[in-house]
Amino acid sequence: MAGGSFDDECDYLFKAVLIGDSAVGKSNLLSRFARDEFYLDSKPTIGVEFAYRNIKVGDKLIKAQIWDTAGQERFRAITSSYYRGALGALLVYDITRKGTFENLKKWLYELREFGNPDMVVVLVGNKSDLAQSREVSLEEGQSLAKLEGLFFLETSARENLNVEEAFLHMITKIHEVASQKTL
Ligand code: GDP
Repeated sequence: MAGGSFDDECDYLFKAVLIGDSAVGKSNLLSRFARDEFYLDSKPTIGVEFAYRNIKVGDKLIKAQIWDTAGQERFRAITSSYYRGALGALLVYDITRKGTFENLKKWLYELREFGNPDMVVVLVGNKSDLAQSREVSLEEGQSLAKLEGLFFLETSARENLNVEEAFLHMITKIHEVASQKTL
């Protein structure tokens, strides 16, 4: 099937990537999703570039391979190979840092430059538990998502709010897009 591949245990193997500025919570979103863990300050993914989780969609078993930048964005060192073969992306900003929202334009540009044109992109405003320090309103997130045609959710990796929903939406959509291609 287009863009995905098979392995022994599952029906499909999908690659998806996490992107966004440093310290928006990408690694913690992934560790929450993959292992239900949260880290207050240490990097959970030093030296680890991706995590897997198996998901059942209908009667199909999907293995989602989710790549984390593991801090490479700090050095602007994300290359086209990071995006290669990815069918989905979680584009993450931090609701308490306006700059991370403003930089989304740059990330979207990069996604369109290097990413698969059919890539499923979910916009994620993380750290919703820090409402008292909010710099980006829910409405700003919603209207950017509408403008760019993206699915949008605010999440908290810390409180485990909407994390599962964000990843599952992406994975289900990838499956939908991929199955249409095989018809
Ligand atoms: P990355 O650089 O984008 O991978 O970000 P990290 O996952 O390393 O997180 C950066 C910092 O933000 C760490 O101190 C995390 O503990 C913290 N953090 C991540 N997600 C949340 C969240 O949802 N709420 C709060 N309050 N802090 C978070």
